[in-house]
Amino acid sequence: MGPRQYIFLGAPGSGKGTQATKLTKERSLEHLSTGDLLRAEIGKNSDLGQRVKSVIDQGNLVSDDLVLELLKANCDIGKKSYIFDGFPRNFEQAKLLESEVLKGADSQAIYFEIDLELLVERVVNRRIAPRSGEIYNLKTRPPKVEGKCDITGEDLIQRKDDTEETVRNRMNVFQETIRPVLDFYREKGALKTVDASGSESEIFTSLLGIVNSK
Ligand code: AMP
Repeated sequence: MGPRQYIFLGAPGSGKGTQATKLTKERSLEHLSTGDLLRAEIGKNSDLGQRVKSVIDQGNLVSDDLVLELLKANCDIGKKSYIFDGFPRNFEQAKLLESEVLKGADSQAIYFEIDLELLVERVVNRRIAPRSGEIYNLKTRPPKVEGKCDITGEDLIQRKDDTEETVRNRMNVFQETIRPVLDFYREKGALKTVDASGSESEIFTSLLGIVNSK
């Protein structure tokens, strides 16, 4: 069997991106965030970027086909172990990931479970470093120097879709689409859940437990 693949599932702000960044530093894993890939296209002002910008700014989902193509162009399942972060977002994508990308590869889905009510404030206070991929929080994980990344010193930015109104829409989208995705992996016996309400290090410990098992 080829390298094992990880599928991180969780609401915006549940910590999956932070944990994925952390895990890739300790293990030879690649972090593949469809949100990051899409934002990079917007940054480049590519055709694709222009097509998806307003959808993303409103907090709605980009079409399944578009995201799938982007994902396929950016991974090589037979060679590397990936953390899929932000894909799949709905049942259709879960099926597409399996049939078009994983094709029976060894995979483990991990759900970052947390009460959505706790998340809006977390996301509104989130600031990111686009180049290093580091994720900060003004209240709970502030950078050492205000507005700058601890690692690269680059300017931190607030994602345009991290404003309160858009975040609330993104939470609704999540709530409406995630259940069948969780059922899909549960039925395959490929779902593990971590309590994402704990501290960053507690969540990381649970995650390592899963990654080290098997
Ligand atoms: P994220 O960084 O995962 O929060 O994604 C930011 C935004 O990118 C989402 O609100 C969607 O508009 C879009 N997006 C990311 N991943 C997907 C996906 N798998 N399917 C559809 N849209 C996506």
